[in-house]
Amino acid sequence: MSNRVDPNLLLELKEYGAVNTEACFNCGTCTAMCPLTSDAHPFPRNMIRLTQLGLKDRLLQSTDPWLCYYCGDCTTTCPRGAEPAETMMATRRWLTAQYDRTGRAAKLYTKETAVLSTIIRMSLLTLVLLIIYHAVTGFDNIITDRVVLNAFAPVMWVWAFVLLHFAYLGYHVLSSSLFMVKQVMQSTVEKYGQIPLSVYAQEFKTFITHYFTQKRWRDCDDAQAETRWRKHLFLVSGYVIMLALIVVFLWWFQTDKIYPIYHPQRWLGYYATVALAYASIEMLVGRRRKKEQLHRFSHPSDWLFPTFLLTGAITGILVHIFRYAGWAWPTYIIYVIHVMAMVAMLDTEVGVGKWTHMIYRPLAIYLETVKERVEQEQIAPDLVPAGTD
Ligand code: SF4
Ligand code: SF4
Repeated sequence: MSNRVDPNLLLELKEYGAVNTEACFNCGTCTAMCPLTSDAHPFPRNMIRLTQLGLKDRLLQSTDPWLCYYCGDCTTTCPRGAEPAETMMATRRWLTAQYDRTGRAAKLYTKETAVLSTIIRMSLLTLVLLIIYHAVTGFDNIITDRVVLNAFAPVMWVWAFVLLHFAYLGYHVLSSSLFMVKQVMQSTVEKYGQIPLSVYAQEFKTFITHYFTQKRWRDCDDAQAETRWRKHLFLVSGYVIMLALIVVFLWWFQTDKIYPIYHPQRWLGYYATVALAYASIEMLVGRRRKKEQLHRFSHPSDWLFPTFLLTGAITGILVHIFRYAGWAWPTYIIYVIHVMAMVAMLDTEVGVGKWTHMIYRPLAIYLETVKERVEQEQIAPDLVPAGTD
């Protein structure tokens, strides 16, 4: 394991939102208070120590920041006001930037101008593609005496664009995740040799379980943990449904047919919209009020994701209302704004922003399960000799 020292690590983490980390004198009270810590993972104290010592590679190889669920208990008991929960949060942002080898995540986290230019660029790209489509097929194809959304933005073209965009984003997420796997598993591989793929495959259920349930959140023992977990589950369920409707079922979801009120196309859309609107408003109001520990400090990226979600929900509701009212131009204009916002959101969040915790948290828990199994059974040396590829 590398012990390379980077004296600027603490300053670097401040750019990602760390507050007063230097005040920590390593008493360990925070770790004693943390409901999620363990002997093998004595965070947040160990993370703060690595940060203060500038041990960048050790931080990069750790999963501990992803095992913290940001309850804030550690911060309320810190005798030095060193804000350990904020250091954990900043470390997660920093890790996201490190996993992303393109450097985009680092820019988006540390430069507001990069966020703005990405939003403008991706929004304009969407608009230009739509204008090119109508310039080629003829603007008179736009029907304005009634709402025909699929004449204005044909679903198969929109779907093709969505699939291409998701293929690009999926590649990005996959390559960043593989880099994380390589870093996290490095010490285990050095000790026991290459880990057979069958071990990864057998434990993959851990990733799936934690991806969909985030159930570790319930292990926090503060009074609000269960409520926060339920709200988060509601948000995730809405997000996953909306993702499935757009990526897999857009041909079915974006239709000019008005379905009866009991039709699943309507209720799935309503459920996802309510979940996204409720969760995003709650997040934004909480950050504005700053009453809860976890809302006292907000990095710009904490505002961006819920703002995008709320924009998507509101414009989606407006498209729905205008379409049912039969107002052609208002429907088309709000639809374009909706798509522009969603494309910009995907490019500033998926693989590079706050969205990434949906992948890296369950991935960290999964990798720790794999490591534990390898260490307990010590199967790797028997199956594959150390030092071989
Ligand atoms: S962050 Fe605070 S509670 Fe934790 S070790 Fe440092 S001084 Fe102690
Ligand atoms: S925020 Fe909560 S879960 Fe995270 S380190 Fe502090 S006490 Fe532990």
